[in-house]
Amino acid sequence: MKITLYGGVNEVGGNKILLDDGESRIFLDFGMSFFTKNMYYEDFLQPRRTNGIGDFLELKIIPELKGLYRKDLLEKTGKPYEEPEYDCVFLSHAHLDHCAHASFIDESIPICCGETTKLYLEAISESSNRDMELEVLRFLRDNEEISRDIRTFRSFNKIKINDFEVKPVHVDHTMAGSYGFIVENGVKIAYTGDLRLSGPRKDMSEDFIKNAAGADVLITEGTSLMEKGYERAYPFEEGKVNSEREVEERCMERIEGHKGPVFVDLNFKDIDRVRTFFNIAKKCDRRFVVGTREACILKYLNMDKKLDAPELKDVKVYMKKKKSGSYCESDYYSWEREYMDSSWNAEDVKREQDRVLMVMSLYSISELIDIKPQNGLYIHSRSLPFDDEQEIDFRKLENWIAHFGLEQLHAHTSGHLRSDQLKEVINAISPGKVIPVHTLFPEGFRSMCDGLILPQVGKEITV
Ligand SMILES: [Zn+2]
Repeated sequence: MKITLYGGVNEVGGNKILLDDGESRIFLDFGMSFFTKNMYYEDFLQPRRTNGIGDFLELKIIPELKGLYRKDLLEKTGKPYEEPEYDCVFLSHAHLDHCAHASFIDESIPICCGETTKLYLEAISESSNRDMELEVLRFLRDNEEISRDIRTFRSFNKIKINDFEVKPVHVDHTMAGSYGFIVENGVKIAYTGDLRLSGPRKDMSEDFIKNAAGADVLITEGTSLMEKGYERAYPFEEGKVNSEREVEERCMERIEGHKGPVFVDLNFKDIDRVRTFFNIAKKCDRRFVVGTREACILKYLNMDKKLDAPELKDVKVYMKKKKSGSYCESDYYSWEREYMDSSWNAEDVKREQDRVLMVMSLYSISELIDIKPQNGLYIHSRSLPFDDEQEIDFRKLENWIAHFGLEQLHAHTSGHLRSDQLKEVINAISPGKVIPVHTLFPEGFRSMCDGLILPQVGKEITV
């Protein structure tokens, strides 16, 4: 059996793990490598769609592999199309660094993912402009809509791909419907995907660890491993928060009795965090206000009752002023119009500001000009910047916060294993070999395990 990592090596995300037994080939994840992409691109400089996947291949954002990519995307590059030579792509969860570049895969190669991942991908595709990197479910070819062969699974449903037997096992992560995989084919390979032990569904990660026990090879994330001195300090960070429950407690303490609007920046795909703030809003008698994209995500997640996501009917949807400036229906995308009926605008939020808890990121921050917050509080509830580009955005956000005189609070817990937990997990699984992925510091594994293999991009590892 050969294992090759085409992404996620010395970087956080971009996982693309190929398993090849000589007869069949399957990929575990096919994510977007933000790291490599950001070396060349930024918001206003993007790969050219007119060149298919040519720009991505040129810059090695995706690997040059024959028999893998869509014909229409290859045609534009002048490279020959060859019949698919891969059997399946498994997606662990719907974070873009794990799934987005499956958009480029030939449509005859099936994609297996969890049911929730499919719902998220539906929400992303409905609420986004056409984007070649967001075409996992379907795409347009000569004006014809091509739907992919998407096969959904639930935890423990084994999937046979020739001699491969793949068992998805749920894990707890800041994305509902996340899985690790146990692959058996003569050897037992366990792949963690992304996971944590500090969330409300720790038991799910523990199920994975149990099922992975005794694996010959463990391919594990190591997001939290960093070289010393890498973490930056922020003045308003008041001590570390270690669990989702602590996030709720810390924020609840501050919001209770606060007079004035509360804004929160969170990752809306993290449904546990969304639920945390929705509950705080309820307890503090505040309306939970979300944008139209967030409303679209809730609409899809409400289809799966097991997720226990806040009901769309229990939140207020905020409509930004667009085009005419008079909130006309025609100002909005067709997918946004269904939320207009009982929505709020800046005037409503301004009037009700003492009883709102509003989701607001840098991308909607200019709404503050119309809301005119008095005595506002801004909660950062996502990871703080860890690279220069994010740092620049963060400084802009801070300028807005200072301009409106908002108080700040940071409350976030990571979606990944802490380094001490990682060590415990490796011990519990007790694998023959360990291959780190999704980490900036694979060397950090040296002190944690025996049988460490440091992967190189595109280099086969025989097990
Ligand atoms: Zn993730």
